[in-house]
Amino acid sequence: MKQSQLFTHTLKELPKDETSYNAQVLLRAGFIDKVAAGVYSFLPLGWRVMEKIRQIIREEMQSIGGQEINLPTLAPKENWQKTGRWESLDILFKIAASDKKEYALNPTHEEVVTPLAGKFINSYRELPFAVFQIQTKFRNEKRAKAGLLRGREFTMKDLYSFHADQVDLDRYYEQVIQAYVRIFNRVGLGANTYLTFAAGGSFSKYSHEFQTLTAAGEDLIYICDKCHLAVNQEIIAEQSVCPQCGDKDWRKEKAVEVGNIFKLGTRYSDAFALSYSDKNGVKQPVVMGCYGLGLSRIMGTVVEVCHDERGIIWPQSIAPFRVHLLSLKANEEAEKIYQKLGQDGIEVLYDDRDVSAGEKFAEADLIGCPYRLVISQKTLIQNGVEIKRRVSQETEIIKFNHITAYVQ
Ligand code: ATP
Ligand code: MG
Repeated sequence: MKQSQLFTHTLKELPKDETSYNAQVLLRAGFIDKVAAGVYSFLPLGWRVMEKIRQIIREEMQSIGGQEINLPTLAPKENWQKTGRWESLDILFKIAASDKKEYALNPTHEEVVTPLAGKFINSYRELPFAVFQIQTKFRNEKRAKAGLLRGREFTMKDLYSFHADQVDLDRYYEQVIQAYVRIFNRVGLGANTYLTFAAGGSFSKYSHEFQTLTAAGEDLIYICDKCHLAVNQEIIAEQSVCPQCGDKDWRKEKAVEVGNIFKLGTRYSDAFALSYSDKNGVKQPVVMGCYGLGLSRIMGTVVEVCHDERGIIWPQSIAPFRVHLLSLKANEEAEKIYQKLGQDGIEVLYDDRDVSAGEKFAEADLIGCPYRLVISQKTLIQNGVEIKRRVSQETEIIKFNHITAYVQ
């Protein structure tokens, strides 16, 4: 894409009330726009990042048999009353419709997916299965000051699984853990993300959170690098050594919860009378699991973890563009490279604007594409372009026909 055609541009001034690093830099670089506290628009650069995260998550959910669906944003009050959460969930947005009925703006979808499953499950032969969606959620968060880490409107992937018994749920739960590990590796957070024991919710003693270490996180977790145990501080008493292996390096760190998986058991099946007939024709409750993952929170977390003083450093897998091509008064040659890379399937942001070299360099660092290519009279004399990785300070000159292989 040509930067001259991008309808957005980088900003010098920031909204005064924006205090979180991820939102500040994403606003400044033109990835998002702020509409209200915890409510953001995604602009062309930001939407490309979200789409890449979405695709990775979709592939991994499909790899464990997840069937993609899309549930509505609105659900009638009665659904939420059936589980008692109309009254008990303080973050629920409630709205009145013109028919005088009340609705919730769904903050999660157990209250919609459980009755849906009930329309299709009769016998044990129809189990197990799993459905997922990538969709907007609404939560009336009190503190919406952490940018994309805590939105009032945000994008979540939620997967729900339906089983005949606990053993089958346990089997699938392990598969989901492995899929989540692959997702965090693929989006570039693998090294900093810990599978963490957390409070159990309604049914099992523990749930598991995926927690990414960052000073911007609101959670505190204990971790042991020796045996890889990680435990949310809210469920464990203060102690000085690892309770599993006794290691002294047991330490407390700030972290953000990027994913949370639960064994729901029959909590929601009971509320909606979701049952099946077993082999003997006896009615049994369906056993459920639910598995959440915040896409916008992942995007914000990557920014918190992967940056330097000049801007964002996107992991290649979710960068808005692989290459940022800067033309310094060499537009004719730059155009040819832009066309060629496009034909080779490389995503290029081409800075063809008539602005100073300094401005182009600063913006390339701020936006954070993995490779910066500079073409100028100086590089043309050497028959090539200057290439630099965003993560490194070193530049080198490479020949035009070597670019594709270099950045692939
Ligand atoms: P938190 O404890 O941070 O409020 P939660 O435990 O209420 O989160 P879940 O209901 O487990 O959140 O939601 C599943 C996932 O959705 C979370 O792991 C997180 O990645 C994401 N998520 C939850 N709330 C928000 C939010 N307000 N903004 C962005 N992402 C969110
Ligand atoms: Mg959670």
